[in-house]
Amino acid sequence: MGRARRVSHRFVEHIPGSLEDGVVYVSIEYGTAVHKCCCGCGEEVVTPLSPTDWKLIYDGETVSLSPSIGNWSFKCQSHYWIIQNRVGWARKWSAEEIREGRDADLHRKRQYYADGDAGASYLPGFFDDAFTDDDQE
Ligand SMILES: [Zn+2]
Repeated sequence: MGRARRVSHRFVEHIPGSLEDGVVYVSIEYGTAVHKCCCGCGEEVVTPLSPTDWKLIYDGETVSLSPSIGNWSFKCQSHYWIIQNRVGWARKWSAEEIREGRDADLHRKRQYYADGDAGASYLPGFFDDAFTDDDQE
């Protein structure tokens, strides 16, 4: 099978031992989502859901994962977004970009745990404004 263009989602309590291609399994219980790499290589991609990892958006019909999924540790090195159950393919990152991405991720986590508010910088700007107003009161 080639690159998937669409996925479906399944809310589960426990992530099953063997995964179907093209299905994003979401366990709210364990705060994680798991799917088989959308390139078809068969690797299992685990995306933990937390303020500093991935966010899952469920709109009642589809799921989106943010940020993008970069499988740098896999042979395929595939990089894609899952937005409203569609798979958007990104170009491969260079080794340099991967390193920078990791540094930025580490920096964000350090900030987040250093002062609980830094996580807000990870959200779109209008959220920042909303939180800032609250903080000042
Ligand atoms: Zn793959």
